[in-house]
Amino acid sequence: DRINIAIDGPAGAGKSTVARKVAARLGYIYIDTGAMYRAVTLSALQSGIEPGDLERLTELAGDLKIELSPGEHGQTVWLNGSDVTDAIRSREVTLRVSEVAAVEAVRTLLVDMQRQLAIRKGIVMDGRDIGTHVLPDAELKIFLTASVQVRAARRYEETKHSHQVSVEQLEKEIAQRDKMDQERKVSPLLRARDAILVDSTNLSIEQVVSQIVELSRT
Ligand code: C5P
Repeated sequence: DRINIAIDGPAGAGKSTVARKVAARLGYIYIDTGAMYRAVTLSALQSGIEPGDLERLTELAGDLKIELSPGEHGQTVWLNGSDVTDAIRSREVTLRVSEVAAVEAVRTLLVDMQRQLAIRKGIVMDGRDIGTHVLPDAELKIFLTASVQVRAARRYEETKHSHQVSVEQLEKEIAQRDKMDQERKVSPLLRARDAILVDSTNLSIEQVVSQIVELSRT
């Protein structure tokens, strides 16, 4: 029988790569909820709306059409009909997204969409509050983590072609984002009581994927 799998954890733990591979292995659909918060953030920045401007931000979020479609390397993200897959990964968006994600009205809208997407079983959804809040009944919950040094080093490997920032700077930014995600009032980043902790500090992607696929079959 198909189940739903929730994968939560801090920034850079490898959630999206792992979730995408687990979904491919099981023939499930992968949903990246971080991409939705990033799309709202991108749109706010493009419209000159400050994340602290709750009224305008809420209005903007309500008018957005966000769509996800499976792509070759993960998921293609559409914002009002434009492909924003790459734009939502920019440094600017990454530095502001946690502020936008702390706004309750934004979360309410996106959580609603996320639950709609998961009505039929066979979903792998990754984020920060999937096991605790979005899909509390998910049959398998994983809390995927790794040391902040390893997470920063992995991010650095992914982005070093752009030579934008040092690994030390990345580590600071990741720690800062984790802190904001853990300390916000509305559904903070938290391990669900029934989530299985997977520490990937010393594991390869392949090992983590196999472990989760194995768990999904028991
Ligand atoms: O997963 P990713 O790093 O792309 O997420 C970007 C940001 O979106 C996170 O740092 C967090 O602030 C927010 N987010 C969230 N809840 C989720 C997914 C992401 O608050 N379910």
